[in-house]
Amino acid sequence: MNDTKKAERKTRKFLEADYYQQPKEGYFLLPFRFHRLNGQKEILVNEVGDFLVVPTGTAERVILRKISPATDEVLYGDLIANFFISEEQIPPLLNVLSTRYRTKKSFLDYFTSLHIFVISLRCEHTCHYCQVSRASEDKNAFDMKRHHIDKGIELMMQSPNPNVTMEFQGGEALLAFDNIVYAVEKATQEAVRKNKHITYVICTNLAPLTDEMLNYCKEHDILISTSLDGPAFIHNKNRHRPQKNSYELVIQGIQRCRAVLGEDRVSALVTTSVLSLDYPQEIVDEYYTQGFRSIFLRPISPYGFATRNEKKNKYDTARFLEFYKKALARIIDYNLKGNFFREDYASIILKKVMTPFPVGYVDLQSPAGMINNVIVFNYDGKIYATDESRMLAEMNDFTFQLGHLEDSTYEEIFYGEKAQYLAEAWTNESLPGCSECAFQAYCGADPVMNYATQGDIFGYRPTSTFCQRNMEIIRYLIELMDSDKKIENIFRNWVTGRS
Ligand code: SF4
Repeated sequence: MNDTKKAERKTRKFLEADYYQQPKEGYFLLPFRFHRLNGQKEILVNEVGDFLVVPTGTAERVILRKISPATDEVLYGDLIANFFISEEQIPPLLNVLSTRYRTKKSFLDYFTSLHIFVISLRCEHTCHYCQVSRASEDKNAFDMKRHHIDKGIELMMQSPNPNVTMEFQGGEALLAFDNIVYAVEKATQEAVRKNKHITYVICTNLAPLTDEMLNYCKEHDILISTSLDGPAFIHNKNRHRPQKNSYELVIQGIQRCRAVLGEDRVSALVTTSVLSLDYPQEIVDEYYTQGFRSIFLRPISPYGFATRNEKKNKYDTARFLEFYKKALARIIDYNLKGNFFREDYASIILKKVMTPFPVGYVDLQSPAGMINNVIVFNYDGKIYATDESRMLAEMNDFTFQLGHLEDSTYEEIFYGEKAQYLAEAWTNESLPGCSECAFQAYCGADPVMNYATQGDIFGYRPTSTFCQRNMEIIRYLIELMDSDKKIENIFRNWVTGRS
């Protein structure tokens, strides 16, 4: 080894403990991370997600102890008040910081709430991106067995969470409405005995909806979640039915649900195909015109049938981000004209950025939502960590199968070897790349996405589409908020739900 290399090696050694007993002068540094927002600004974020947007170069000045009350009175005060620096080695209000940390993670207090029952895999649509590799309508073999429904309910009742959600998915869930009725009756009885509150949700394309089904939903306070991909020319291309009338049926269905169940009892989700990317404004306008006051813009998941039709479903993250920003601009425009209209993905992130409260959104939390918040009971009795895990299983990959309704115990499913293996990769605080990322408190971990797109549950951040998308959306939202007070107020209204 030559002398230069030896010298480099020497500088990387840990020094004696005294060296780290800062400060020699000024203040003590507390843990924080930073990120360049643009040419002029950077953001400092502390352990609980409190942030300061400051001129570029400030992080360096803070670290080199170049900030003082005499030269930077306001900034110095902000840094002290927000736990970026401290004048004492142990900050006097350290317990305030620890309480806030516990509050941020309090979504973990009660463990699993969302229990997805894939009540049937049958479907009468043939959507080209369908993530659940549907089975044709006449195959009764693809309905969930009654004794599996019983076992799923039994496991749900064992959740420590007093408030659980029972979500019926498909295929097309309404094709097995008799199964839904059976499950709701059974779970309602059990909930009384176990003192639990259950929220029921049916995910449906609304095409098979009858008046009897609607009345049953009304009687049992069941929420409806549907799919609307935009105007007819987009929706009918994405969501194919032989009669080419998916759009007409879903719009009629939404109106009937609102009339019988109430305006706020039906919600819709967009899936963004390649075709959708060219029509951000039209999609936003469709939601607004149809009376929705929020829209959830999400990219296609790289699982199931979606990967088999690349021409219609495959696009890079940059294209999605371009679409997202155009759609967001349109949504903000509605708000600037005095109309409340919210983008839900942004609202989830903004709640993390602007408030001390936890957000239990399964795809954007750390520890990840899998198992901690959601569990999936598949039509064939297999149990998966997330909805996306069962989509992988439809492609014969059972990496995320946790057990079977036939014979697995609660402990084996929720605390077993597979769960422990996944736990190694489900906190972004300990993932390479994420551990030093300024947006860690606003982002999450997604071992299933890492595995499906990069081949292992830990993933590699520099080429991760999950990371690229979240990093840019978080950066963009903060930049927008910082550049325009009116936009900041709109974002605040989205978080508080004030219209
Ligand atoms: S995924 Fe990317 S944006 Fe999210 S915390 Fe990790 S490094 Fe940061």
